[in-house]
Amino acid sequence: MNAQNDSLRHHCGVAGFFNQEGENIPERLFYSLFSLQHRGQESAGIAYKKDGHLVVYKDLGMVSGVLSRYLAEQRVSTVGIGHVRYSTRGGNRLENAQPILVSCNKGEIALAHNGNLSNARELRSLLESEGSIFQSSSDSEIILHLLARSRQTLFYDALKETLGLLRGAFSMILIHNATLYTVRDPSGFRPLFIGFKGTTVAVASETCALEVHGIQDSREVQPGELITTDHEGTRAELFNREGTPGRCVFELIYFARPDSRIFNQSVHLTRKKTGAALARCDNVTADIVVPVPDSGSNAALGYAEASGIPMEYGLTRNHYVGRSFIMPNTSERELAVRMKLHPVKEAIKGKRIVLIDDSLVRGTTSKILVKLLKEAGAREVHLRLCAPEIKWPCYFGIDIPTRKELISNTMTPEEIARFIGADSLMFLPLEELKGCLDDPGGYCYACFNGQYPVPVETE
Ligand code: SF4
Repeated sequence: MNAQNDSLRHHCGVAGFFNQEGENIPERLFYSLFSLQHRGQESAGIAYKKDGHLVVYKDLGMVSGVLSRYLAEQRVSTVGIGHVRYSTRGGNRLENAQPILVSCNKGEIALAHNGNLSNARELRSLLESEGSIFQSSSDSEIILHLLARSRQTLFYDALKETLGLLRGAFSMILIHNATLYTVRDPSGFRPLFIGFKGTTVAVASETCALEVHGIQDSREVQPGELITTDHEGTRAELFNREGTPGRCVFELIYFARPDSRIFNQSVHLTRKKTGAALARCDNVTADIVVPVPDSGSNAALGYAEASGIPMEYGLTRNHYVGRSFIMPNTSERELAVRMKLHPVKEAIKGKRIVLIDDSLVRGTTSKILVKLLKEAGAREVHLRLCAPEIKWPCYFGIDIPTRKELISNTMTPEEIARFIGADSLMFLPLEELKGCLDDPGGYCYACFNGQYPVPVETE
C-alpha cells in the first residue's frame, strides 16, 4: 500500500488455457485477464507455447495497454498462462512482473502465482545461503528455485516435493513441456477455478474470467489439489489433505467481482447479506443509504432492503481514473479522491445519510469523503463498514499496512467517527460477518482477530 492509497489491494490474478487441438490461446488469455483487471493493475503478462518453446511477454501497465497486440492476429497454441499484478514486495518493477519463465535442469517452466508465501524469508535465505541468485524480489521466484534444485527426476515429483515446502497462499498455474499444472494451497486462501468447454480447459482466479468465454461448466480447485492437464486429459490429486481452512473472507467482502461465485457463494449475495446484517444491528434514523461505489454498492442494496431506507446514488465514481492517478507521488490527496468519487448534490442536500463502505484501513479517504458530502449539503453522515475492525496485517497476498498504521489499533469507533467527521460509525461485528457465510469455519479472519491459519513470519 502506498502512502496515498487508503484501500486494501490484492496482489494478483491468474488465468490459464489448454487445448490439445490448438486455438488462439493469447487472445483467450487477454479476455480472461481483462476480466481479472480488478485483481492487479500494475503489470500484465502472458506465456504460451510457440513453435515448441515457451515465450513470454509482460510489461508494466493495464491489460489493454500491455496485451492488446494479441488481439490483432491468430497465434495458435496449445497451452498458455497469464497474470495481472499489483506490487507490494519488491515494488512495481518489471522484473517482478509475471508469468516468470525459466530454463533450468528440468527444462522450460512458466509460472503465474497469486498469493504470498508465509515462509518466504526462511526459504529465500536458505536458498541464498546455498548459492541461489535471485533476479526479483517476488516470492514466486522461490518456487522456481526449489523446483530446479529438486533431485526428483520427474517434473511431477519435483513439483510435489516443492509444494510440500511452501507455506501460506499459493493459487498458481505452471507450464512444463506441453502440460498445464494447476495448484491451490492446502488452506485455499485465494480462489481458483477450472472450467471445461469442448476441448478447451481453462483455469482462472474467478468465475467471471471463465464466463467471459461462455465457460459455465466449472468447479473450484480444491485446497491442497494439484491438477494436471495434457494430451491425455485432466487428472487431479490431493497433495495435502491436512491444511487448516483459510479461505480469505475479504475476497467476498471486497476483492472479487460481484458477478463471480467463489468459495461456493455468490459474491453479490454475500455482500447484500453483510449490508442486511449491518442494518439489523443499527438503529440510526436516516433519509437515504448511499454506497461508496463500487465496493459498497451491493451491501448498500442489502442495507436498504433490510432497513426500509431508500438507496440513493449520492456519490459518482469516475471509472476512468486508473491506478496511475493515485500513485505515490500524487501529493494532493483530496484532489485524488475528488477525481475518483464526487458527491451528487441534488441527491444528498439536506439528507441524513447512511454511508456504506467495505472496510476502514487508515481512515484518510473516509475523512475526505465525509467532508465532501457535508460540503455538498448532507445534514448527517453515518458511516457503516461491511467488515469488522482491521487490526492485523495479512501475510497471504493482501496489502495491509503495519499494525500502528491501522486506525482501529489507535482509536475506538467513537474516536474514529470524530476523526473523520462522521456523526456516527459502526463496524459489522465479526459474528455477524460469520453469519453471512455458508461455511464460517472454512475462512481466515486473521486481519480482524490475529488468529492466522498457518504460522507466519512477522515483521
Ligand atoms: S488476513 Fe485478512 S486479508 Fe489476509 S487472507 Fe486472512 S482474511 Fe484475507
